[in-house]
Amino acid sequence: MPQQDTGPQADSEFVDDTQDCAEREKAHVERGTARPITVVGNPVLHHECREVTEFGPELAALVDDMFASQRAAEGVGLAANQIGVDRKVFVYDCPDDDGVRHVGVVCNPVLEELPSELRVLDDSNEGCLSVPGAYMELARPDEAVVRGQDIEGNPITVRGTGYFARCLQHETDHLYGRLYIDRLSKRERKDVLKQMAEGTPRYATVPND
Ligand SMILES: [Zn+2]
Repeated sequence: MPQQDTGPQADSEFVDDTQDCAEREKAHVERGTARPITVVGNPVLHHECREVTEFGPELAALVDDMFASQRAAEGVGLAANQIGVDRKVFVYDCPDDDGVRHVGVVCNPVLEELPSELRVLDDSNEGCLSVPGAYMELARPDEAVVRGQDIEGNPITVRGTGYFARCLQHETDHLYGRLYIDRLSKRERKDVLKQMAEGTPRYATVPND
């Protein structure tokens, strides 16, 4: 854990997703198969996904495919509906404010509301594998706490700062049918879609009808 984390997270309230990151990520990738990424306009991205209720081999195989897809597309986070699966689960492989790598899986995530007086907004650039080739500044809290379940159904709480906080919020949004461009102004959204139309994705995508 990063040194300045001296609060309750020093105990086991928060999941430790910083150990053996390379090995864990590699094991998932080797078992999984990369699938093409759904893009804005595909209905699966625009409605709330169904809860994960079975924590068995099918979920494990899905998570492996998600890590393989994330690696192939060079992403730092991936939600199940980004490979066309209507289930509330996301994976991540993302650095935090201190450059510490976090690798993990969250099922049925719920974002914890931070008290507004503690909220510090960060307006860094954001992008999305489902909006290929486009980026836009978007203000989000620079700290996030997500409650959910691990791949075996045990309750977990994940905390992130900086870019990782952005990732946790972005991926949770996906599973509720919300893309980051839905949080932009009309003009910014238009700009982003134009950037996307002008580029060619560097990874396989699912064509929209
Ligand atoms: Zn995304």
